[in-house]
Amino acid sequence: MIQTKGYAAMEAGQPLVPFSFSRRELAPNDILVEILYCGICHSDIHQVKDEWGGATFPLVPGHEIVGRVVRTGSAAKRFAVGDAAGIGCFVDSCGSCQSCKEGLQQYCTGGLVWTYNSKDRDGNLTQGGYSRHIVIREDYALRIPDNLSLETVAPLLCAGITTYSPLRRFKVGKGTRVGVMGLGGLGHMAVKLASRMGAEVTVLSHSPKKEADSKALGATGFVNTKDSSAVARLSETLDVIIDTISAPHDPNLYLGLLKRDGAMVLVGVPESPLAVHAFSLIARRRTLTASLIGGLSETQELLDFCGKENIGADVEVIAADEINKAYDRTLAGDVRYRFVIDMKSLD
Ligand code: NAP
Ligand code: ZN
Ligand code: ZN
Repeated sequence: MIQTKGYAAMEAGQPLVPFSFSRRELAPNDILVEILYCGICHSDIHQVKDEWGGATFPLVPGHEIVGRVVRTGSAAKRFAVGDAAGIGCFVDSCGSCQSCKEGLQQYCTGGLVWTYNSKDRDGNLTQGGYSRHIVIREDYALRIPDNLSLETVAPLLCAGITTYSPLRRFKVGKGTRVGVMGLGGLGHMAVKLASRMGAEVTVLSHSPKKEADSKALGATGFVNTKDSSAVARLSETLDVIIDTISAPHDPNLYLGLLKRDGAMVLVGVPESPLAVHAFSLIARRRTLTASLIGGLSETQELLDFCGKENIGADVEVIAADEINKAYDRTLAGDVRYRFVIDMKSLD
């Protein structure tokens, strides 16, 4: 076994504390990655608080991971020692179900292995990226573009791909009018990506102080969702809305902003159900759909797109002993726009 250290929640809702644990020895197709940076996703917070149910403790969160390969298994071919590697929300899948065959591993029906809080093939629980090292089958690691700084790449592994995938699915480009609900980690990536794809982007935020930032990120419109007349002026103007809001909210308010045949894509996962009025959809044949991260090839496509377009996340780098403070600040909406942990601070 390979000894490592990290930060874990020992019980639901408890502050994270330093934690020593082990990673498996390398199988022939595995690589050992020294983790350099790991983003803090709101999903980490939901799971530490066990808001979705099913969390197991001790729990080392983290699925926006970048690092360097420090050892390779005897049969590993894709990565060499010294290469940068990215790891997102899953570390293995069955490889043979229809979704896996189509490169949509995130929808695997044969047993997806999440990066943390999941049963690995060997029966052990997986632990995430708030740690110094991780072992992964090399086919599930991603290549990092050379021109981007690693700390800005980490959030692309979840916040980036989760917003990129539905933008591509709905063929967002020049002339598309996109609304982004919530300007947090996911939301700020949605704005950057959609605007770079050529769309006209409007941010729908309950934080008026984020207006200037939203413009700097590439949005042309900003609506304070507490201002009902400003919301009403946007009625039936948008083609696609990406809903990244992490807390319970009224989706009907936003569905009315879609044109006929427009689509709202849920990516945020509030802890309680959303109440959708049928007329919000029926009246203009609107679609309400959702999206889960992205598959391996699409995640690589996103990373390559970001390399070409020179897009990284806007990050605030913190030391590991600041994780609990960062959780509080994320919950208070006080982050611009992703906390990223410098994992070397654990040494
Ligand atoms: P985040 O950085 O905390 O951003 C969430 C944003 O939601 C906030 O910045 C805020 O935006 C808005 N918001 C928060 N509370 C609100 C409230 N009470 N009413 C209205 N708006 C509120 O979180 P994140 O990391 O981007 O994650 C967002 C959600 O996506 C989480 O639920 C997470 O679990 C989920 N997620 C899903 C996937 C997937 O594959 N589908 C992947 C990753 C994350 P404003 O201040 O601008 O209003
Ligand atoms: Zn995430
Ligand atoms: Zn599968």
